[in-house]
Amino acid sequence: MEKTDILSLDLNELETALVSLGEKKFRAKQIFQWLHVKRVFDFDKMTDISIQLRERLKENFCINGLFIQKKLESCIDNTVKYLYRLSDGNFVETVLMEYSYGHSICVSTQVGCKMGCRFCASAIAGYVRSLEPSEILQQIYTAEMDSGVRVSGVVLMGIGEPLDNFDNVVKFLRLLSDKNGNNLSLRHVSLSTCGIVPRIYDLAQLKLGLTLSVSLHCPDDKGRSEIMPINRTYNIDSLIKACKDYIDATGRRVTFEYAVIDDVNSSDADADRLADLLRGINCHVNLIPVNKVKERSYHTARSGVAEFAKRLGKCGINATVRRTLGSDIEAACGQLRRDAGLHDGTNGGAML
Ligand code: SAH
Repeated sequence: MEKTDILSLDLNELETALVSLGEKKFRAKQIFQWLHVKRVFDFDKMTDISIQLRERLKENFCINGLFIQKKLESCIDNTVKYLYRLSDGNFVETVLMEYSYGHSICVSTQVGCKMGCRFCASAIAGYVRSLEPSEILQQIYTAEMDSGVRVSGVVLMGIGEPLDNFDNVVKFLRLLSDKNGNNLSLRHVSLSTCGIVPRIYDLAQLKLGLTLSVSLHCPDDKGRSEIMPINRTYNIDSLIKACKDYIDATGRRVTFEYAVIDDVNSSDADADRLADLLRGINCHVNLIPVNKVKERSYHTARSGVAEFAKRLGKCGINATVRRTLGSDIEAACGQLRRDAGLHDGTNGGAML
């Protein structure tokens, strides 16, 4: 019999599972707290549970753990990148970032990615599978235990498309914010999508309170389809409509991410078109200098992003420029990859 992944169960599911084993319901909360509050991932160390029950837990459940295969620390800004090995031998990357207000973590939601955005390293080695809720959570728990810091913000901006793993991502968010468990407010969580329109409507209905970030990167369909294949299925019109619905349904503003790329989307005309597209929408624009991906030749001139921001400002659209963290260890936006474990020694940072 295959064992149940206990870290992916919410409290109700754990109660049901324990009752079906003939145990008392209240045991579920005790076990849930061992896992999600005390972070004890060995049934034998759950000392207020009888030895008999611990044995039954071991027979019926497994605790999905991640192994730190490699850890790189930035020499510039204390960013730490973890390469985790999953229980089936696959790899994902996770980035722990230090800000003046605390620590934020960037988690992966899939092993690889199907979306094929031209400028993104995560797309290069293709897609393998979606992550389980426990595997997304463990990226945080393992980094916290390793570093000794408590994470105060989470961004779903690592490898994968979160809305292409909708049910597991929603489950992860519910576990992350459970009052009986990790108890992180979803106000401190951002989910980034390339624009899977039907799932944006679904997410709006759940009213989770998180920030939706949308990777826009181009203000016209022709250009966007060239760099983001998803645009051929869900065009800009349908994406903007879904974002407006999200704003109406949740009362929260949406962030639009825009990687400024020389000769692709960085002209004055592009800025003007972007301003026209977003005028009147309760949103924020986050500009990103395109980060280096060795298989691609995209780049941004140093002045490019600032000029673009200025032009948007003139058109009445406020934009901020995202700080690039961990660039010396390939930990910046779009630089994470599932096959990073196979290329040792290519990074500039210190390997720990
Ligand atoms: N699949 C999600 C999350 C992935 S990455 C999405 O597409 O939104 C998080 C952000 O980094 C996205 O906005 C993505 O488009 C951007 N990104 C990808 N490659 C990049 C690169 N080389 N430079 C800068 N940003 C990049």
